Amino acid sequence: MEKRIVILGAGESGTGAAVLAKTKGFDVFVTDIGKIKPHYKEILFNYEIEYEEEQHTERYILNADEIIKSPGISDKNELVQLIMKKKIPVISEIEFAGRYTTAKKICITGSNGKTTTVSLLHHMLRRAGLNCGMAGNVGKSFAMQVATKAYEYYVIELSSFQLDGMYQFKPDISILLNITPDHLDRYNNNMQNYADSKMRITQNLSEDDYFIYCSDDEITITELEKIVLRAKQLEFSQTKKVKEGAYVENEQMIVKVNEDEMSVPLSELSLKGKHNTYNSMAASIASRILEIKKEVIRECLQDFAGVEHRLERFIKVHGIEFINDSKATNVNSTWYALECMTTPTIWIVGGVDKGNDYSTLTDLVKEKVKAIVCLGVENEKIHNAFKGVIENIVDASSMKEAVNKAYKMGEKDDTVLLSPCCASFDLFKNYEDRGSQFKECVREL
Ligand code: ADP
Repeated sequence: MEKRIVILGAGESGTGAAVLAKTKGFDVFVTDIGKIKPHYKEILFNYEIEYEEEQHTERYILNADEIIKSPGISDKNELVQLIMKKKIPVISEIEFAGRYTTAKKICITGSNGKTTTVSLLHHMLRRAGLNCGMAGNVGKSFAMQVATKAYEYYVIELSSFQLDGMYQFKPDISILLNITPDHLDRYNNNMQNYADSKMRITQNLSEDDYFIYCSDDEITITELEKIVLRAKQLEFSQTKKVKEGAYVENEQMIVKVNEDEMSVPLSELSLKGKHNTYNSMAASIASRILEIKKEVIRECLQDFAGVEHRLERFIKVHGIEFINDSKATNVNSTWYALECMTTPTIWIVGGVDKGNDYSTLTDLVKEKVKAIVCLGVENEKIHNAFKGVIENIVDASSMKEAVNKAYKMGEKDDTVLLSPCCASFDLFKNYEDRGSQFKECVREL
């Protein structure tokens, strides 16, 4: 009998996993409690994969030999609980696809900066002429690419949820950007559980592999002290000189790998802000490990266009600059956005609070922010956090209202920053929708 693989969730990763499983000859079944998007249905149909939508039929699911679960589905989900009780192995799409490729895999995780760093590193590898795919949380699913492409390298973005479903998978180069509070709602409000999940990026690394990490990040350092790592370790820091890895000296980013050094003036990095300097460092170290030429790395650091919705300098209207940082869905990412601001800022913030502690933002808000526009269904927590700090706090219940209010309060040379600190699901489909609506409303001013 063929091994039966059941896939929970027919989104990008689930559909990709289904196609790969089918092409490898498994008995495949896909189940989704919601409606499956037409595009994914068409793929399932074309590959003759059985599926159901808007329901989970237990007898088609609990007879699986292995389950591939979308990272979007929580372990607390009733069906998942039942599956676990039955002791059917549950893995992620990345774990599954990793079994079927011998490509070199560079994997990036962290609370913030993953997509930016993955995109920058992918840009470098492509420019160097390597046959390289980009996968994971960004772009096309890893499994789909393993099924249909012949890449020799992959740059893969791993969320903590994907890492939770990974056991044997082994990256060749692992990058851990940072660990700061996020998604605690899915980790029983326990920061240690979340940190443990991120540290899974180090599991299975051997002497020939590399581990790149930020040695300014306190939680990372604490966690590293608890484990024995066989991989070669390279660190990056903006507060001290490091032996091997990357650091800042005299306004230059220095990258040192295998005793070989390169430097790039910080002013020449296309990605602005301290957080992006970290991202540039991580990508450059990985590129040097892969022996990509310094000129190529330098060129890419200078011309990388950035990723939409991440501190995206959009347009100026009557001298007021509008910045779309809709992807800032936690406090730490907004901290870096505020830190980058160089002109008086009208800050649009709010949405679904994932257990935020706003107190770390107080000093920056005092220094940089002239007015706050709260954009969410529940704004009370934001009012309470900043009412003694900023006089001008107003509410908005739609993006149009938020942008109009921010614009009215602005003067020439001010900045309007959308950096919500929160998830978007109260008023928007997702963060992309929120960012796009922002830009649309700004265009209409
Ligand atoms: P992720 O994929 O981890 O969510 P993104 O690259 O999409 O990360 O960026 C998400 C948000 O975090 C954006 O607001 C971005 O400006 C900010 N950010 C990017 N890199 C970092 C970093 N290294 N540290 C903190 N915040 C960051």
